[in-house]
Formats: sequence, structure tokens, C-alpha cells
Amino acid sequence: MLNIVLFGPPGAGKGTQSQKLIDQYQLIHLSTGDLLRGEIAQGTALGLEAKKLMDHGILVPDEVVIGMISNKLDANKGAKGFIFDGFPRTVAQAEALDQLLNSKNEAISSMVALEVNDDELEHRLLLRGKESGRPDDANPEVIRKRIHEYNNKTAPVAHFYQNQNKFKSINGIGSVDDIFQAICKVIDLC
Ligand code: ADP
Repeated sequence: MLNIVLFGPPGAGKGTQSQKLIDQYQLIHLSTGDLLRGEIAQGTALGLEAKKLMDHGILVPDEVVIGMISNKLDANKGAKGFIFDGFPRTVAQAEALDQLLNSKNEAISSMVALEVNDDELEHRLLLRGKESGRPDDANPEVIRKRIHEYNNKTAPVAHFYQNQNKFKSINGIGSVDDIFQAICKVIDLC
């Protein structure tokens, strides 16, 4: 299986690149952000709890997202592989993902990290907020909180994969197609 973790701060372009990668490699896209927004749209108890945190730019608890990912792995047993987008976002989530894959005799193939500076991120997210209406993109304070959560809790996940020699960094500024080609080069070496 080809299991790719697409990594990077909010607004780095993970969603955009995921769509292209799914087509190229026939992978299943697992975005915890999308899964959580699905729960919110359906008005589930989980969604109601998650929304309170997401609207403030705070990460939802590890066990919630780990449970969602575990269900999705089980529901896609014949898959060629997965793109993990927005997950793992903490070291505890990365450890849990390793265990889940291990129990299926699988592993992460590579982590691809999109590098984008904070000013560019804030600019992109405010623009996306206007277009998509996502509440957590509309408010500069919430955006800064998300970037802060990323730097504190999520950035250390890169070291977790560096220690396994699976970390690859890609410049996330440039044309969508150039960035996509750079990612494909990395994946083709897996
Ligand atoms: P972005 O990467 O642009 O911030 P996402 O759609 O991935 O957007 O996530 C939106 C929000 O959903 C996050 O700010 C967080 O509150 C919550 N969330 C998504 N994935 C996770 C995760 N793996 N762990 C904890 N919270 C998450």
C-alpha cells in the first residue's frame, strides 16, 4: 500500500494537492477536517462538541479523530492506499496511526510537508474564508490561533517521521502544478 501523510500548516494547500494525488495514484483521501465538518453538517453529538473547538481554532481531542480514522481504515479494506490530510496533528495521533497500520501489517510510506510562511498562510486563509464561508477562516484571531496550535502541537509531528527517515519537505509556494510535480517525484521514490 501507498500511505502518504500530507503535512503542513492551515492553508498550506493540502486539500488542493490531495485531490490531484487521489486521481494520480487512486488513493483514498482521509481528511479529519472534512470528516469533522461532515459530523457538524449532520448535527451529530460528536459534531456539536467538535464545532465549539473548531470555531475557536482549537484542536479536537485525539481520541475523537483517532476513532474516526480507525473507522475509515476498516471501511476501506481493499484500498491501494491512503492520503492522510490534516492527520496526524499531534505526536499522540502519529503514534496511534502507526499502531493502527501496524495491526494491519501496513505502515506510512512517506510524510510530504508543504512549507509556506505565516504571512502567506494568513493571506490565503482570509481569501478562502470569503470564498468558502468557513467560519474558522473568516476571523484573523481564529486563524492566528490555528497557526499557534500548529506550531505548538503539530510541528513536532515532523520530527516523529524524521526519526523514521520518512520526512520530505516541499516548497508550498508556486503554481499548483509545479508543487504537484514536486510531490509526485517524492512519492515515485517510495
Ligand atoms: P486546516 O488544515 O486548513 O486548518 P482542517 O479542515 O484540516 O483545516 O481542520 C479544521 C479544524 O478541525 C482544525 O482547526 C481543528 O479544530 C479540527 N481538526 C481537524 N483535524 C484534526 C486533528 N487531526 N486533530 C485535532 N483537531 C483536528
